[in-house]
Amino acid sequence: MGVVNPDAAYQKCVNPDCAAEFDCGQTMFKCPKCGSLLDIWYDWDKIEVPGKLSDFGKRWVNRRNPLDFSGVWRFRELLNFCEDKYKVTIGEGQTILQQNDAVAKYVDMKPGCLYLQYEGLNPSGSFKDNGMAAAFSHAKMVGAESCVCASTGNTSASMALYAHSCRMKSTVFIGSGRIAFGKLSQAMDYDAQTIQIAGDFDDCMRQVQDVCARLGLYLLNSLNPFRLEGQKTIMYRIIEQLGWEVPDWIIVPGGNLGNSSAFGKAFSELKQLGLIKRIPRMAIINATGADTLTELVNNKKLAWNNGKVEQTIIDDYYADLTARDFSPHTCASAIEISRPVNLKKCLRTIDICNGVVRAVTDEEICDAKAIIGKYGLGCEPASAATIAGLKHLRSEGVIEANERVACVLTGHPLKDPNVTVNYHKEKQGKFSNPPIEAPNELNEIIKLID
Ligand SMILES: [Zn+2]
Repeated sequence: MGVVNPDAAYQKCVNPDCAAEFDCGQTMFKCPKCGSLLDIWYDWDKIEVPGKLSDFGKRWVNRRNPLDFSGVWRFRELLNFCEDKYKVTIGEGQTILQQNDAVAKYVDMKPGCLYLQYEGLNPSGSFKDNGMAAAFSHAKMVGAESCVCASTGNTSASMALYAHSCRMKSTVFIGSGRIAFGKLSQAMDYDAQTIQIAGDFDDCMRQVQDVCARLGLYLLNSLNPFRLEGQKTIMYRIIEQLGWEVPDWIIVPGGNLGNSSAFGKAFSELKQLGLIKRIPRMAIINATGADTLTELVNNKKLAWNNGKVEQTIIDDYYADLTARDFSPHTCASAIEISRPVNLKKCLRTIDICNGVVRAVTDEEICDAKAIIGKYGLGCEPASAATIAGLKHLRSEGVIEANERVACVLTGHPLKDPNVTVNYHKEKQGKFSNPPIEAPNELNEIIKLID
């Protein structure tokens, strides 16, 4: 273990009719030949991958080495695209998989079956740090000096934090009024140049790609295939915390679809390497106010189809969104996205993992969030879509009460305090826990506590 051979990695276009290949030393975020997404591929024969997953656990005794401490880089043979000298870590990936029977009861699962993966415990408070550790390592490898992203919030917070750790200049594009307070405060505090565009996330995403092309900045959105390599490690850590066993289901919120894309790739590679015997199923949960994936997959029957995705279905749907002047709306701002950039890779994941897609209302999201706060460590609204979605899938009988389910809680509860305060203080939901007003008088206060 430990010999890194970065020559074993290369970039490859996901479009099977193109399948162009490029060196990892090149920086581009779409195939220059056909405009499709790029993937990182490995010549596994050239990489010393451990014979079994539990071998990775041996690194823990060596945790004074920052790469062995990192929840991303201690799995480095599985994302082997750069030499150790370029690898960036700020201690990401020290996250917890918590078995939670009280939340299990809320979704009608048997005790011992529901697990919550708290990615909010990362340094910037969201799962994004997994991807940034990997992408900033690539940025260092190619000598980038300035980076940029469009963001609903978590990406900007994470990018800004990693950028100053790497002494890089960072610029964040956010939509006006569409960013949660906690996230915006982080971008500013971590010294990113923050540009607020009069538009929504999809508008920011279009602008940032053009700005990158014009100014040659390093792009850190999940279009960046190196980011998704880092996000694969969330799955490795879930398996690790289950004693190197694979769960029956992974449930993940669906926004720009980078996570689901990365997770499917992770399982496909582990299976190919013989490190797991079976691939878990995956459920991807949209908000009803931003349900492009649900519409395309469940109603318009869009599928991966060995990479030959029917582009006209997507084009027609997006043309309709434009004609209706549609802008997505959900309290779960992290998944308030109607043109997900990783759509095709997510379709591949659905194929790999026999996946399902559902959409849940903001009311269901907020109630689920309150339950995760009441019985667990709490999370941001988008994360709670997983539990709301699981409730649907249980009542439909798609998921059995005794199956082992891991929900990925993507962000920390303090990311979006406004949604939480409104829910409780304004008594907006079934589980509201508002503050009680009391006079400034001892006996009256004591009466209230009794
Ligand atoms: Zn191509």
